[in-house]
Amino acid sequence: MPLVTSKEILERALAERFAVGAFNANNMEMVQAIIETAQEERAPVILQVSQGAIRYAGLEYAAGLVKIAASMADIPVVLHLDHGTDFDQNVRCLRAGFTSLMFDGSKLPYEENVAISKRVCEIAHIAGIPVETELGRVLQAKDGVTPEEVEAAMTDPNQAKEFVERTGADSLAVAVGSVHAMKSREATLDIARIEAIRQKAGVPLVLHGSSGVKHESVVEAIEHGICKVNVATYLNQAFVRGMKEGFEKHPDEVDPRKFLRISRENVKEAVREKIRLFKSNGRIDSSGGFVSPPTQYRSVDIGGAEE
Ligand SMILES: [Zn+2]
Repeated sequence: MPLVTSKEILERALAERFAVGAFNANNMEMVQAIIETAQEERAPVILQVSQGAIRYAGLEYAAGLVKIAASMADIPVVLHLDHGTDFDQNVRCLRAGFTSLMFDGSKLPYEENVAISKRVCEIAHIAGIPVETELGRVLQAKDGVTPEEVEAAMTDPNQAKEFVERTGADSLAVAVGSVHAMKSREATLDIARIEAIRQKAGVPLVLHGSSGVKHESVVEAIEHGICKVNVATYLNQAFVRGMKEGFEKHPDEVDPRKFLRISRENVKEAVREKIRLFKSNGRIDSSGGFVSPPTQYRSVDIGGAEE
């Protein structure tokens, strides 16, 4: 199937209370692992490419790999830019055929974040491409963050409402207790805050830093409005574990495929675990459409009017 945009699948996820896995793909084996598993699980899927991955593989390669994989798949596949930190990067990705963008201005002063997010949304919307923006800050584990710092960086629900209204953002990455690049699963999320943001902002919400969040907390967050969950560190760990296993098992092997094959299998299992956790499995029928008709949508209040 050709690539699809993130708009419909995230709105579907919001209505039906599941989340779409957004998996960071850094090389061919990871792209294959993610798509194959999503197909086996009949799950819609987002493959996302970070600026780091673009620097590593090159924009055309990174986009090309995902497009080829999607063209052979019979499930909806989105090609998303993860953490585009400037306007120009978003434009380059729009031109390269990305079907979902992200402008992350969370490190900028608020008004600057609003201004650039709005500009990215305006240009992307002309081309029919949705945009994820970020408000509040999901911090980095390597910077040694304290619980107080995580709390202070969280998204304010009232500001989220204003931010979405002013920028026209299609989805919003929120800071609700997770931290990027955590290697163990110990964080819990502020569910009341997620609920408040959902009610006020009215758009699908995105969870970054999921690798360090307890499973039960992720499940609860999805019940309350998280519709896209980013998974990067957990897949990288699975990939590297496969290479280490390979080196140990075959110390004299010179064919890298021996190791990469184990890595690819490991990534597949990591993706499968997350897809099932997010309840996005079994959503897509054999024709590539969503299984349940719209009349089966659970009724949810996504209005932003109440105070
Ligand atoms: Zn992130």
